[in-house]
Amino acid sequence: MITEIDIRIPFKFIHDQKYIADFVARELNISFTSISHIEVKKRSIDARKKNILYNLRLDIYIDEDFKENSTYFFPSTISDAKTVVIIGCGPGGMFAALRAIELGIKPIIYERGKDVRARRRDLAKIHKEHLVNPESNYCFGEGGAGTYSDGKLYTRSKKRGSTQKVLALFVHFGANKNILVDAHPHIGTNMLPGIIQAMREEIIKLGGEVHFESKLTDLKIENGEIKSIQINLNKWILCNNVILATGHSARDVFELLDNRKIKIEAKPFALGVRIEHEQKLIDAIQYHGLQSDDNLPPASYSLVAQIDGMGVYSFCMCPGGIVAPCATNIDEVVTNGWSPSKRNNPFANSGIVVQIEPHHLMDDFEKNPFVCLDFQQQVEHECWISGGKTQAVPAQRLMDFINGKKSESLPETSYQPGLKSIDLSTVLPPMISERLKKAFLEFGKKMNGFLTNEAVLHAPESRTSSPIKIPRNDETLEHIETKGLYPCGEGAGYAGGIMSAAIDGMNCIEKINVKLYS
Ligand SMILES: Cc1cc2nc3c(=O)[nH]c(=O)nc-3n(C[C@H](O)[C@H](O)[C@H](O)COP(=O)(O)OP(=O)(O)OC[C@H]3O[C@@H](n4cnc5c(N)ncnc54)[C@H](O)[C@@H]3O)c2cc1C
Repeated sequence: MITEIDIRIPFKFIHDQKYIADFVARELNISFTSISHIEVKKRSIDARKKNILYNLRLDIYIDEDFKENSTYFFPSTISDAKTVVIIGCGPGGMFAALRAIELGIKPIIYERGKDVRARRRDLAKIHKEHLVNPESNYCFGEGGAGTYSDGKLYTRSKKRGSTQKVLALFVHFGANKNILVDAHPHIGTNMLPGIIQAMREEIIKLGGEVHFESKLTDLKIENGEIKSIQINLNKWILCNNVILATGHSARDVFELLDNRKIKIEAKPFALGVRIEHEQKLIDAIQYHGLQSDDNLPPASYSLVAQIDGMGVYSFCMCPGGIVAPCATNIDEVVTNGWSPSKRNNPFANSGIVVQIEPHHLMDDFEKNPFVCLDFQQQVEHECWISGGKTQAVPAQRLMDFINGKKSESLPETSYQPGLKSIDLSTVLPPMISERLKKAFLEFGKKMNGFLTNEAVLHAPESRTSSPIKIPRNDETLEHIETKGLYPCGEGAGYAGGIMSAAIDGMNCIEKINVKLYS
């Protein structure tokens, strides 16, 4: 017999199998020896009170053998008869390809960047030599922005089936099984490249194609339908179904669409700074004075405030993480954050960003789809100039920022290219900096100890989501005016992270499948 049970246990006992089995036996009024296996189905922490608890949902095997389910199976072959072209090898593109294979459709991926291994060398150059390769960086290359990301897999999507499927696929390709049960699943930057490589190898083994250093440079539309795409300025490829999953940083793709009169729209996005504290301070705040304990993960936080009519919130918080240089061009700086699977770096970082609507920047924004993108680009460029025209970023201690005082010295940072002390109010637009100051004061009330001059702000955090939307038909998922073109994932405005981009990629393929087989 298998019985499901929800229990709450003190955090100290989370790794104590005997304690958990005793607890369950008492709760179910059965003998300890009749329990043949305990399978964790869900796990979350409740740290609201001083007695920190784990919530567990368990399957209890009573006098019943446990058989491990294999997580995933793919068909052994696909035919060349039906194909789909996928532009971009990020989570959107890759999960579209995997779903295509399941449905017997051959995916052909074109990716502007390099494979994970070659890409790693380009990342090292950003960190050490301040050299940004516009085709191979934290956003561009195999696995997209997801490969050297933090690998948090949360989503607000209510479609549980789809989220479980994405998690199961990650496990199939090498992720830790814990992601299937944790309330806030996390893979970690050290694990992701291997997983992404395994996905690509499987796609190719099963008959798909993946072309690196192959950039979409043009496309042909006839009678409102896509007919062909151009790769690397010279090669034209005939195609009827194209998934455009090029991410939020492919500014040249937005320009290409606009030049070809394919409708795009300005979209709300968020911009601000990345803050870094010592992790042990965040642990002490969130865990009621406890600074570290093997039975508790490094603590995270989630903060939100409404300031002068605009939302200000924490974004992509990385416990035990690193602040990363995520520019895609030589004349800009951009920060983001990641952490290894163990989240064991001494710092905690998070974006703190202000939500910007197109109408905040321009009254008749409908006339200019680039209004948010131009603003984003300008801030990134100004910060690059202030930082000294390298990948060093303008930075300021938190209390100095709030008090409008340039920092005389800066604390240690995880951001490898380095910091330059600047009063950030002089580089960030006032609509951002003034709201950030007020928001930090609010956050200090919610987290006692958050307001410290040992925390340092890195500017800017600007690639939180796409500043442009590529509108599509809700039913067919095709572009509203161009048949056969499927705007997909974060760059098109239909995803806000790895999980939602992956789900969107699979959804686009489902629609293409219906079209191909109807
Ligand atoms: C440092 C960092 C940490 C992050 N941490 C998290 C996290 O913890 N959790 C989370 O959910 N999200 C995180 N993200 C965001 C996440 O990575 C993105 O939301 C996700 O990757 C979006 O997927 P996508 O497929 O829509 O686009 P992308 O991942 O951006 O992929 C787009 C791909 O298209 C390619 N491309 C662009 N233009 C062209 C062209 N013209 N021709 C061919 N190819 C092209 C790009 O090279 C890229 O590989 C993080 C991002 C970064 C940079």
